[in-house]
Amino acid sequence: MRRLTGGRVWSSHSGRLRTGPRCERRAPSLSRSFICSRRPGRMAQKPLRLLACGDVEGKFDVLFNRIRAIQKKSGNFDLLLCVGDFFGSTPSTEWEEYRTGVKRGRKGVFTGASGLQIAYLSGTESLAEPAPPYSFTFKDVSSLKAALQATSQFKGVDVLLTSPWPKGVGNFGNASGDVDTKKKGSSLISHLAMDLKPRYHFAALEKTYYERLPYRNHTVLQETAQHVTRFIALANVGNPEKRKYLYAFSILPLNLMDMAELVKQPPDVTENPYRKSGKEALSDKQGLAPQEEPACQFFFDLSKKQGKKRQSTGGDSKGVSPKQPRKPPQPLGPCWFCLASPEVEKHLVVSIGTHCYLALAKGGLCDDHVLILPIGHYQSVVDLSREVVEEVEKYKCAVRQLFKSKGKRCVLFERNYRSHHLQLQVVPVPLSCCTTDDIKEAFIIQAQEQQMELLEIPEHSDIQQIAQPGAPYFYVELDTGEKLFHRIKKSFPLHFGREVLAGEAILNIPNKSDWRQCPRSREEEEALARLFRKHFQPFDFALED
Ligand SMILES: [Zn+2]
Repeated sequence: MRRLTGGRVWSSHSGRLRTGPRCERRAPSLSRSFICSRRPGRMAQKPLRLLACGDVEGKFDVLFNRIRAIQKKSGNFDLLLCVGDFFGSTPSTEWEEYRTGVKRGRKGVFTGASGLQIAYLSGTESLAEPAPPYSFTFKDVSSLKAALQATSQFKGVDVLLTSPWPKGVGNFGNASGDVDTKKKGSSLISHLAMDLKPRYHFAALEKTYYERLPYRNHTVLQETAQHVTRFIALANVGNPEKRKYLYAFSILPLNLMDMAELVKQPPDVTENPYRKSGKEALSDKQGLAPQEEPACQFFFDLSKKQGKKRQSTGGDSKGVSPKQPRKPPQPLGPCWFCLASPEVEKHLVVSIGTHCYLALAKGGLCDDHVLILPIGHYQSVVDLSREVVEEVEKYKCAVRQLFKSKGKRCVLFERNYRSHHLQLQVVPVPLSCCTTDDIKEAFIIQAQEQQMELLEIPEHSDIQQIAQPGAPYFYVELDTGEKLFHRIKKSFPLHFGREVLAGEAILNIPNKSDWRQCPRSREEEEALARLFRKHFQPFDFALED
């Protein structure tokens, strides 16, 4: 086993750690990031198995015994990465010069033979120049950034190791326990993380474990999709509270990865916590608002309990606040489509499932034009988690059956462009109007007229595989399951789907292509929703259990 730390290699024989042959001037100092490498020469096409460790505080025996036990149980790891306070106050002459910072290795990049790139920055933040030992300064951070960003087409590093937490890491994220991330941590590290875009960022020093939800490194709809960052803070080795101090993960180096695979966005991804403060982000969103299609397509009234749902089973807790293993994604600002949004009304909702719900479209093309929507804040079908996708499919199926029983075929479309919350539009077209091929042709012709490329996608194929994460698109799904897909480049006519369906070849109601031209009174809407609920009831799986 070879141990590598900031350009310095230690090797161990029969479990004993000793200084190896390639001593260099740069070496670890106190409170540092530390890399131990096994098999660094391995060419890895399969993922590397890494272990990250929090503050060791000199408890080397505790750590290595633990690692030995883990490796015995689950096989060997390729690297051990240590963050935080490595030496503690344990006296040890061998390590003394590193501990006091006489020999130091404040920062650097370690690239393994596998191509795995690990950036590290030792010590705690110092605003003074010259900085005391065990500290880093603005200069250290800038030169580390410059060294990495100088390489052409820098996409990010695989791993970033720092001792302190980045300041503000909890913004837009899940709760960070006792640590107030607005006050604790280093803002230099926040800037570093923002620029280096690590896929994993480890830190320690706070004696607690915190795994933040992954965050985006790009701005949705403004930049092309990039990989996400996972921030993980680890506790100290052998802590009495038994907080997690070791974290095992597998990683394929970024440079070996397929781009589409690399930039896949997990469903629980959040905004970048360092990009701007919540307030700024919100005002930015408001700045975008005038370009957006008016969001008030329909309203919910959560104070009124709609339908007879769940009431027979003793309350509606399962209906409106479904039990879910994880809280669904939350919007940054007001959202008209998040079912739990406080600022909206509800009278158009016709069915509520566990992850999705069904609502009548405001100003619908016809009386039974509905929308399938996720309850949580998901931007598009591409972002949905598996359970949500499954329920979307169930709703599609149920609505298709309803329309079939009424002698209508079902056309679905989604526009992931200038829209923050997925709305899957479902429009019934009477069988007597036209054939499926007529509908397909109408879409293709209208797209050609507007110089848009519509790709035909076979039945059962998945939009999630075709759309690039974060990239805008439009697609329509016919009743045969065939889909026509358009990758939106610059702009897109917001009413495209409606325009085609309202056209002479299909529904022949051209004056209804804009929903704002189809006003209905509140009473009319309520009556239509009631009627739809009644007709949908035999097909509504959400009412069954
Ligand atoms: Zn929403």
